[in-house]
Amino acid sequence: MRGVVVGDVVCTFCGSLCDDLEVELEGGSIRGVRRACAVGRAKFLAARDTASPSINGQPASPEAALEEAARLLLRAGYPLIYGLSTIPAEAQKEAIALAELLGANIDSTSSHCHGPSTMARQQTGLPTCSLGEAKNRADLVVFWGSNPAESSPRHFVRYSVGARGLLTPQGRKDRTVVVVDVRPTATARLADEFLQIAPGQDYEALTVLRALVKGVAVEGRHPAGVPVERWARLAELMKKCRYGAVFFGMGLTMSRGREANLELLLTLVKELNAYTRFHALPMRGHGNVAGSENVLAWQTGFPFGVNFSAGYPRFNPGEFTAVDLLARGEVDACLVIGADPAAHLPGTCVRHLASIPVIVIDPHPNLTASLARVTIPVAPAGVAAAGTFYRMDNVPLRAKKLVDLGLPSDEEVLRRLRERIARAEDRQRSHY
Ligand code: SF4
Repeated sequence: MRGVVVGDVVCTFCGSLCDDLEVELEGGSIRGVRRACAVGRAKFLAARDTASPSINGQPASPEAALEEAARLLLRAGYPLIYGLSTIPAEAQKEAIALAELLGANIDSTSSHCHGPSTMARQQTGLPTCSLGEAKNRADLVVFWGSNPAESSPRHFVRYSVGARGLLTPQGRKDRTVVVVDVRPTATARLADEFLQIAPGQDYEALTVLRALVKGVAVEGRHPAGVPVERWARLAELMKKCRYGAVFFGMGLTMSRGREANLELLLTLVKELNAYTRFHALPMRGHGNVAGSENVLAWQTGFPFGVNFSAGYPRFNPGEFTAVDLLARGEVDACLVIGADPAAHLPGTCVRHLASIPVIVIDPHPNLTASLARVTIPVAPAGVAAAGTFYRMDNVPLRAKKLVDLGLPSDEEVLRRLRERIARAEDRQRSHY
């Protein structure tokens, strides 16, 4: 590498938040990235200031774009602020303050990924540990409905399958790896045991495991599509390991049963602690989706899907969550930050988004920006803006500003938007 090398750089592009990257800077831009996976490297190298603000598809000054965004949000009767999963905690806090000021709904991508596991935690608690603890101690790793080989490529080498830890000095040789999923995945190919269950049968599978762990006989030869002997072997592996960690993903949170699946899994993990040490960790996707839940919970008491229209925060998944608000056509304006709902939400939601004023605050042009009335480009966090991100195990890490792209941060844009709206509301009040 040539130029200035910055060490201990945090990659904010997935929930693993690898914090061991080295980035080479030269002439104010990024020339090289070491230790990142292909996804992380591409994101760092793609950071540049190509976009400009726009109103109705036409270039606009930053001030004009902010003014139009404020006007659209003030005019709305029931707005939604949506996203939050790729922006720093400081910006998430600003977005919540803006939602409170507007009496708006605010939701993150969590409500349609790990929201059910968060709801299950509210019922059962979460027997969990840090990724560092899993790396240093776990000799049994179970991936249930998660595929980190593709979603979080360095998870294996840093925290789970091959990571060398205090009590796992030989890495992969010191661990048994089990995958439970509905189809063979890249992660399943690396496992010692792969249990391919029938789609939608996670609840049955977890019930069988709980029974077998307790020594209760199970009826039927193939519960959840897997021979009962293989479930019995997994139950034995779980009870006999020194330290177990189960990483659960959207294959469990978004399949039939949702939060009920998670309540069973977390109960199973609690029960396993009668025999050994066992923990459960959510496999989070976006770089700060865990932060969105933490920050919303500090500020409002609730982790996602919060409504401020009554003047105080209310939480009701299914009523105040983004997919439901959009599918029912209830919201009349949407501020999107740190997400791309047009690319990921159901067609009914996208059709409603296309019919209402949408404001997009994002470092890059995306599908949602193509239907937005206002777009405001911002500095990519962790590259051209600093901020706090929460790793998938809820450990906060500080991401650095590496280069200056001459763009404002998410936090700055949201603060200026909030101040503008507050001034306009003051003017309106003084009128009466
Ligand atoms: S695994 Fe995730 S956090 Fe680590 S380098 Fe790749 S994209 Fe970045």
